[in-house]
Amino acid sequence: MIVKRPRAEEAHILSLVAADAAALHVAPPHVRFVTRSSGPCYEALFNRIELDRATLALPEPLLRIVVAHEVGHATQRGTMLLDFAWTVLSVTMLLSIPCIVFALSPDQELWRVSVPGFAFVVAFFVCGKIWRTRSVERSDAFELDADAKAASLCGAASALAALEAMSTRGHIDTARLDAMRARLISNSR
Ligand SMILES: [Zn+2]
Repeated sequence: MIVKRPRAEEAHILSLVAADAAALHVAPPHVRFVTRSSGPCYEALFNRIELDRATLALPEPLLRIVVAHEVGHATQRGTMLLDFAWTVLSVTMLLSIPCIVFALSPDQELWRVSVPGFAFVVAFFVCGKIWRTRSVERSDAFELDADAKAASLCGAASALAALEAMSTRGHIDTARLDAMRARLISNSR
């Protein structure tokens, strides 16, 4: 559900997004304000940031980090869309294999259909498992990169404070906190 926000608050968020986008040399993403509490997110397909009510209620310094992180995702849009296109292409190619095999089957003997069919089902599940593992790794890498961009815009100490605050809402995993702590330590050396 989309929320009607006061104009001043909306304008403030849009100005933060525009400033971060300019600093990261990327086109400013659109912003949508929502009521559900799934946390802030970036949608590559629409180049759009979604901010929920709880995020907007964060103190200003934390809100700035969240916005910077989401704008950081906008810099990954090309890679995200390419990933999506490759996924669609791979699934289409994989699904076309049994269609071709069955179409070219010279006769209706059961084993000629069932054996390659069974092999295909096994291959499909193996590919699905590989794909899921890879997509989790890609997603984690995108998050770490967006965190790094937020830290470059707002400072690692502020970014870590924001991650710690967001982790209490269950939106942040430990790897991101660890990476930001490591960045803070390496910056202070
Ligand atoms: Zn993110």
